[in-house]
Amino acid sequence: MSKPMGAIPAGYAADADGMLLIGGRRADALVGEAGNTPLFVYDLALIGHRIATFREHFNGIDLHYAIKANSYVPLLRHVAKQVDGLDIASAGELDIALAAGADPALVSFAGPGKRDSDLEAAIRSGVTLNAESQGEVDRAIAIGARLGTTPRIAVRVNPDFEIKGSGMRMGGGAKPFGVDAARVPALVRRILAAGAEWRGFHIFAGSQALDPAALIEAQRATVALAGSLAEAAGAPPPLVNLGGGFGIPYFHGEKPLDVGAVGAALAEALAARAAILSGSTFAIELGRWLVGEGGVYLTRIVDRKESHGRVFLVTDGGMHHQLAASGNFGQVIRRNYPVAIAGRFGAEAEEEVSIVGCLCTPLDRLADDAMMPRADVGDLVAVFMAGAYGLSASPQAFLAQHSATEMPVGA
Ligand SMILES: *Cc1c(COP(=O)(O)O)cnc(C)c1O
Repeated sequence: MSKPMGAIPAGYAADADGMLLIGGRRADALVGEAGNTPLFVYDLALIGHRIATFREHFNGIDLHYAIKANSYVPLLRHVAKQVDGLDIASAGELDIALAAGADPALVSFAGPGKRDSDLEAAIRSGVTLNAESQGEVDRAIAIGARLGTTPRIAVRVNPDFEIKGSGMRMGGGAKPFGVDAARVPALVRRILAAGAEWRGFHIFAGSQALDPAALIEAQRATVALAGSLAEAAGAPPPLVNLGGGFGIPYFHGEKPLDVGAVGAALAEALAARAAILSGSTFAIELGRWLVGEGGVYLTRIVDRKESHGRVFLVTDGGMHHQLAASGNFGQVIRRNYPVAIAGRFGAEAEEEVSIVGCLCTPLDRLADDAMMPRADVGDLVAVFMAGAYGLSASPQAFLAQHSATEMPVGA
């Protein structure tokens, strides 16, 4: 029995020859230009369209980009110009963000396990630290005093709830992320008493949510929590980062998130917010929803073989570049990402095949028992949903295979 694939995201079509177009360019021509496969292509126009969709539905709310989703500099430079802030999670990402031309005043640095040298780099450059613990706050204050620079500190809150049904849980219960809500008011007072610049709250309750009702409920709870924490601390937060969690449909049967419904409900929740939040700026931080569907991973078939009645298309790419499509990036049960034969895009499926990578491990699968048009050695395979958590989230050094190239189109 063949296994279903996720739906190809909107915005992709074929030319008259049946060749996949990405940003209006033929996939085979893009590979020719890059010089070889494997290749990640990012359609900056599709990403720009996503940003415009956000603006349409979240009037008056700042948009931040969580750069760990994709920090390829040409993409980051393009996105940074169009958003209100960048969220980073390491000193390396700080360097990348600054190299992409980001204004340090619009960058916030979350993530557990920041070394003193990381805190120092952040304080020197003037980015906001989203503090993950009291220990981190105390170290930041001491480093600021030593440098003679006032640190900018927001408190990352570990809320007592999480987005229901979200793919990756990062809030609720015992967590390495953030400060338990009950401890937050005292920590805010400590920051203020030390003379640091308190920037507000960062409250992230989960990721990869496709159910608007779950996001609406989490956002309502987040606005309420920010209000009660601010009242308990006796200080109005300049910024409330409401987290993000907007998901994208990777798998069969999943539907795109109804962001219109989420935006309308958030406007209502904000209209009813506590008075202490009346002057606060609100932000949403997004990664995959902004860039995931804009990326395509192209890899070439180098062998076609049969084993016990099954057809295997063996490619020159795989999990070392696109770990998530192989099912090994947090998935419990492996399901097929949307995948196509680039030169026969939209053609009728004729045979059941398994598309595998070139790594010598059975984990390296790009599509399992999927129905595809006939494909042979030399044909290009396109793996969609490759714009977020692709190359940078994959074990590129594993097996020392050929490296992948990245390319922007449609700027
Ligand atoms: C990873 C992360 C994000 C981005 O998550 P997406 O699912 O890609 O939108 C946002 N905020 C924080 C704190 C994160 O750790």
